Amino acid sequence: MKDCNSCGKCCTKYSNGGLSATASEIEFWDICRPEIAHYVDAGKIWMSPDDGRQLALCPWLNKVPGENKYLCGIYYDRPDDCKYYPVTIEQMVADDCEMLEVKDLQNPRQAQKDLDKLMIDSRPALE
Ligand code: SF4
Ligand code: SF4
Repeated sequence: MKDCNSCGKCCTKYSNGGLSATASEIEFWDICRPEIAHYVDAGKIWMSPDDGRQLALCPWLNKVPGENKYLCGIYYDRPDDCKYYPVTIEQMVADDCEMLEVKDLQNPRQAQKDLDKLMIDSRPALE
């Protein structure tokens, strides 16, 4: 399992209606980050502030000039839905996530353990 290389595939795939934000995240944005709240409509993200329609691409996804790499413009205040990705090896395979190595495909059970370890600080603590 490699570290994330910021290829941007996950953001590109899910930002078109595949992401959600919690009520408390939206409340936080309303109060402290109104520029983010601007892209929320009826509890949904990422919506056009002009016509309220679903955007095709997350407005916070920024391409690094001259590199095939993308960065999140609201990294520290992005929704948990973004923070928790990737969750399963199956999902990573389906999304062609570039963290995967050949050995992960050969031993998905071990790969899931490696992923869980890697993501331990990004996910909520188990009760
Ligand atoms: S908020 Fe950030 S992490 Fe989430 S889809 Fe947009 S660019 Fe990606
Ligand atoms: S698809 Fe995988 S490697 Fe690419 S940005 Fe998302 S988590 Fe990182």
